[in-house]
Amino acid sequence: MKLKYLGTAAAEAVPALFCECEVCERARELGGRNVRTRSQALLDGRLLIDFPADTYLHVLREGLRLHEINSCIVTHCHSDHIYPGDLWCLISYAGRRREKRAFHLYGTGAVLEMVRAQCEDIEQIIREGGLCLHEIRPFEPFEVEGYRVTALKADHGAPESVVYAVEGPGGKAMLYAHDTGLLQEESMEYLRGSGLRFGLVSYDCTNGLLEHGERNHMGINGDVRFRELLEKAGVLAEGCVHVANHFSHNGGGAGYDEMVPAAGERGFLTSYDGMEVEF
Ligand SMILES: [Zn+2]
Ligand SMILES: [Zn+2]
Ligand SMILES: [Zn+2]
Repeated sequence: MKLKYLGTAAAEAVPALFCECEVCERARELGGRNVRTRSQALLDGRLLIDFPADTYLHVLREGLRLHEINSCIVTHCHSDHIYPGDLWCLISYAGRRREKRAFHLYGTGAVLEMVRAQCEDIEQIIREGGLCLHEIRPFEPFEVEGYRVTALKADHGAPESVVYAVEGPGGKAMLYAHDTGLLQEESMEYLRGSGLRFGLVSYDCTNGLLEHGERNHMGINGDVRFRELLEKAGVLAEGCVHVANHFSHNGGGAGYDEMVPAAGERGFLTSYDGMEVEF
């Protein structure tokens, strides 16, 4: 399986739109991997994870061929993960398809409610068959694009937030854990009984180098503790790749350049926009 990180930032991005902090000023100056757009990833070129405000930028910059993608799983209803306004482009005269096809969006009731409230002409788009909304529930696996996907309850501030365990062919699997603190007992219990063995885990690292942070979001030290919990639960495959991702400018002064050594010495890759990982 191959995961491509299209966007690797928290809600305000780096540099943040209106921010003059040290991390943002440095990102403006240095550019490159210090610049981060809002969270989105693509699995094997076909399963999209999240639909943030920067989706269009990912189309332009990361070669995201959105017009060829049919399925998107959404983690929760914060704007760096779902930006319903741009789903309007699925209306027939804005998204002119050669053949009739729907964009299938999977999310909890809270996500779908936000989409219905904030996407203009939503009834028409659904009636025309441009968009298909699928309500998912935690701990109830569903099939999409040949994957078996299970939502686990996240520990996060938005209603009904989930993280995703995605199982591909041949028993390969990934845990995409944004946004969340340490998974709480209900989700850990599910994982212990799941038989899943993750070849990649993507960890929330919003708090960067800050010590606090095992609830709502994590920093790199929370990621270490989360990895310990996953190890104990027996869900990590041999050679599992650990990726710290979803960064903000409020992570103890760390931009990409400062995160790389701190994450590296703890056995984590530091994500950047455009990074691809095979596992
Ligand atoms: Zn987020
Ligand atoms: Zn800033
Ligand atoms: Zn969030």
